[in-house]
Amino acid sequence: MPVCLYVATSSQGKLRDFRTAAEAHSICIEPIPGLADIQAPEEDGDTFAANATIKAVYYSQFAPGELVLADDSGLEVDALDGAPGVRSARFAADAGLVDSPDANDNTDVWNNMVLLQRLGDKPAEQRRARYHCVLVAARDGRVQHTSDGSVEGVILNAPRGTGGFGYDPLFYLPELEKTMAEIDLETKLGLSHRGRALAAMLTQLHR
Ligand code: IMP
Repeated sequence: MPVCLYVATSSQGKLRDFRTAAEAHSICIEPIPGLADIQAPEEDGDTFAANATIKAVYYSQFAPGELVLADDSGLEVDALDGAPGVRSARFAADAGLVDSPDANDNTDVWNNMVLLQRLGDKPAEQRRARYHCVLVAARDGRVQHTSDGSVEGVILNAPRGTGGFGYDPLFYLPELEKTMAEIDLETKLGLSHRGRALAAMLTQLHR
């Protein structure tokens, strides 16, 4: 019987990432049944681990007896003392920049703009950053496994590439000489914070 993991995300992108990585381990990945109708918990933790734990523990109540996986991730910039960190999705909103109600969702554009503004003209050696992801697996409200992964990069002065999402057009990988928005999905999953955290989690589940 293959182990099945229920994931607390309705993001098709994350689901696809999780499925691609899990295939090699003969682990099946499913979204929690009825996720769309479950009210999301408040993610008010100070760390990625705290927020991933809040989500995994909370959502595991809705899939009794099953292993439920939740993630939290974001960008940490050294020169900004680790910001935006757990506030990565809301970096621009925290600075008062939000879309008007009738506009398309430009959150990623605003977030990137605020990041560029905060870093100003700092040289490359002061623009070091990493994406960090923490995964927590819980069953019936109890944490069973935790893993994490990160990938190091440098924040550019201007965006490059059209792939990915979030801060990817500014996140430059010196070894590949490309941004995260310039690499294909398979490559991204192989080296990304989420891919690494997931590989570590799947290894634990296989023991
Ligand atoms: P989440 O809470 O894990 O969905 O991610 C929080 C935020 O971190 C996202 O809204 C993005 O701004 C940023 N982020 C996390 N992972 C990535 C990534 O792989 N690429 C680009 N941005 C990311």
